[in-house]
Amino acid sequence: MWIPALCYHRIEVPPHVARDDTNFVTPDMFAGQLDWMKRLGYTGVTIGQVLAWQRGVASLPTRPIAITFDDAYDSVVSQALPRLSALGWPCTVYAVSAYLGDRNRWDPSAPPARLLDAAALRAMLQAGHDVGAHTRHHRRVRGLNGDTAREELAGCREDLEQSLGAACTSFAFPYGSHDRLTVQRVRDAGYAGAVTLKRRTIRKGGDPFRLGRMSVGGPLSHALFALKLAKLQFTPSVI
Ligand SMILES: [Zn+2]
Repeated sequence: MWIPALCYHRIEVPPHVARDDTNFVTPDMFAGQLDWMKRLGYTGVTIGQVLAWQRGVASLPTRPIAITFDDAYDSVVSQALPRLSALGWPCTVYAVSAYLGDRNRWDPSAPPARLLDAAALRAMLQAGHDVGAHTRHHRRVRGLNGDTAREELAGCREDLEQSLGAACTSFAFPYGSHDRLTVQRVRDAGYAGAVTLKRRTIRKGGDPFRLGRMSVGGPLSHALFALKLAKLQFTPSVI
C-alpha cells in the first residue's frame, strides 16, 4: 500500500496584501478537495497512525490519506476541523512551540496570522487528532550548529509534551529542508518519524524520518487537485 500525505498551511481566503498565496487554501477549495478525496474512496488518518502501521503495530483503513497542517494556524480549528469532523477524519498539525497562541513571527513578509494555543492543541488531541513538532522558532534545521539544533528539535518536543501532557512523536521539517545529518538529529531528539515536502507516497519499509508529502496551496481547480493526487498516488516510493 502506498499512502499519500498532504501538507496544508492556512485555510483562509488570502488577504489582498499577500504577495505569495502558496500557503493559502480557501475554505471552499478545502471543502471541495475533501469531497474529492471522499469520492475517490480515501479515509483520513494521522501521521501517528501511519508510523504505527509502518512499525507493524496497527492497521489502517483500505485507502488511507494523511492530511497535515504546518505551523498550526487558528484557521485549522476554525475552518478545517469542522469539515474534517463531518467526515470523521483525524488530521495532524505541526506546531512551533515558542509561538503557541502568538503569531507567525518567523516570516515578517507573510500576512500575520494567529497560531493555536496550548488549550486548542490539547482539545485537538482529545478529539483524536495528532500534534507534532515543527521546531521552537520555525528554524531551517539544515545548517544549524549542534547545540541550536538540539534546542530547536528536542526543545520543541519537550515544550509540547509539557504543555500538552502527551507524547509528541512526529516532526515536520520547516521549509521541508533536510539532509542526512538533520535526519539523524531528529532521530536523536527522540521522535519516531518525520515528514518532508518530497512529493512521494509513504510505504511500509520506507524511512520513517523521510515521509513524503504533497504541498497543497494557491489557486487550484478541483480537477487539477484530483489529477495531482492521482499522480502522487501512483508515484513509486523509493524511500
Ligand atoms: Zn512551517
